[in-house]
Amino acid sequence: MNLIFRQLGDPTSSTYTYLLADADTREAILIDPVFDQALRDAALIDELGLRLGWTLETHVHADHVTGAWLLKHRVGSSIAVGANSGAQAADRYLAHGDKISFGSRHLEARATPGHTNGCLTYVMGDRTMAFTGDCLLIRGSGRTDFQQGDPRAMWRSVHEQIFSLPGECLLYPGHDYRGLTVTSVAEERRFNPRLADSITIEDFVGQMSHLGLPHPRQIDVAVPANLRCGRPAEGMGETPVQSWAPLTLTFAGIHEIQPAVLEERLSLAEVIDVREPDEWDGSLGHIPGSKLIPLGLLAARAEEIGRTRPVVLACRSGARSAQAVVILQRLGFRNVVNLAGGLIRWRASGSAVEGGRE
Ligand code: FE
Repeated sequence: MNLIFRQLGDPTSSTYTYLLADADTREAILIDPVFDQALRDAALIDELGLRLGWTLETHVHADHVTGAWLLKHRVGSSIAVGANSGAQAADRYLAHGDKISFGSRHLEARATPGHTNGCLTYVMGDRTMAFTGDCLLIRGSGRTDFQQGDPRAMWRSVHEQIFSLPGECLLYPGHDYRGLTVTSVAEERRFNPRLADSITIEDFVGQMSHLGLPHPRQIDVAVPANLRCGRPAEGMGETPVQSWAPLTLTFAGIHEIQPAVLEERLSLAEVIDVREPDEWDGSLGHIPGSKLIPLGLLAARAEEIGRTRPVVLACRSGARSAQAVVILQRLGFRNVVNLAGGLIRWRASGSAVEGGRE
């Protein structure tokens, strides 16, 4: 009955994505995944040994594109959205009171319109946590001045559907712009400057009509994409990943290539070995056609590396070369990957080496 829970952030849009899983059955769901972070999320789910059953949206977002479609494509998850969201191409349309299960647990969808018509808050079956999307934020609320925003509806949603939960119920918002991560029903009922128990609906409507906020930067791209559950439009390209070889992405954000995959495509890539000269001549040998630039000299000698072919970085075990990936990315190299497991795994998988000893 253990719950696995991770709060994940997208720094660009200040969006929170929530991973919930049943530790026994390993079934997982992801609330509000972000397209640009979908491969990170998939890597985490993989490393934790989870199976992603569903992605859930709290609403059609105006500030980022959902990762729902990309994750469906990559890991086979199903897409659930609000029945009133207007989004197309989902696998399930959730109405008020619907339950969505993962293992022995479930989330209950509650209609909380106000920010948009179709906003949902997801409440954990035992009422210990709720995911409020852009309805209730920490000491704030979502905007009501675009899409189908309606401050009266929002006030009712918060008071009837969220503040009716137990005081100790933890609330996780869709965004936070100040670095706050979690609050509780009791805390917001007391301290929320827009929606606390002491504030009337008329006060709230008055406040919300005079916020004078700028038009969301991403809205013209994000809303149409999110109405397609994040499927890229024709011609936008499938995914943001380098496509010359099947790669994996670690949760640390490093693309990796397996030895057997690299060996098949060795002529397509430039392989840079970042070990020391004595290791290059040592017992493991080196990859045919690779070039030696020790890690400590990599930045200084980066101009020796071409920018047209993909670059594969290799070392003994894959650790120094992962650092090398970061160094080259900082220098503007776009297509750099790490050889997973380094020369040790390269040798163990029976791939060809130059030099070296048995
Ligand atoms: Fe929103």
